[in-house]
Amino acid sequence: MAQHDHDHGHDHAHVDTEEHELTYYEKRIIAISNLLIDKGLISSQDLLNVLKEMEDTTPMVGAKVVARAWADPDFKQRLLQDANLVMSELGIALQRFRVLKVVENTDSVHNAVVCTLCSCYPIPLLGYPPDWYKDETYRSWIVDDPRACLSDMGMNVPANQDIRIWDSTAEVRYLVLPQRPAGTETMTEEDLAQLITRDSMIGVGRTLSPDELSVAADG
Ligand code: FE
Repeated sequence: MAQHDHDHGHDHAHVDTEEHELTYYEKRIIAISNLLIDKGLISSQDLLNVLKEMEDTTPMVGAKVVARAWADPDFKQRLLQDANLVMSELGIALQRFRVLKVVENTDSVHNAVVCTLCSCYPIPLLGYPPDWYKDETYRSWIVDDPRACLSDMGMNVPANQDIRIWDSTAEVRYLVLPQRPAGTETMTEEDLAQLITRDSMIGVGRTLSPDELSVAADG
């Protein structure tokens, strides 16, 4: 473990506990984290970097990209053609995978994303995947009977729309570009982003309508 030698001697910061009563799993996580730091396998800075990344990556990153695509046809075209290039221009690092593909919903096609093998997901754009995404039920049902699975999740796809399921891998991840809702013609890019839900970018949920947004803002 020669590459970690430089950490020795100045890396004894441990994970601190907060004031609340710790659960069994919290105790285990802290014990394991401290053990990894003591063994020199990771530094406390590595750990903080991961936590920082988890806080920074939220579905709002993806929502801003989608809103821009709604507002700017040239941007949308480039995003659909070469999402990797656009991500590097925006300074969004893909890190763990090589290829990002953006798939566009249209009047005739609805797209949804899964990882049938495990839980591959476009983390830099959507944050960490929800529990159901990793669940065996979703991973098989969305492939076996996408229309029923989506309907069960509250996403009723009209019969005249084909459904395409995209199976993520360690190499390739997908982001759904939902259709721009009606009645949003005068909205700014910033406001448009508020309509774009995480689930709409996975393809298992709708975007909000402007009315729903104003209700949410009032409530
Ligand atoms: Fe996976």
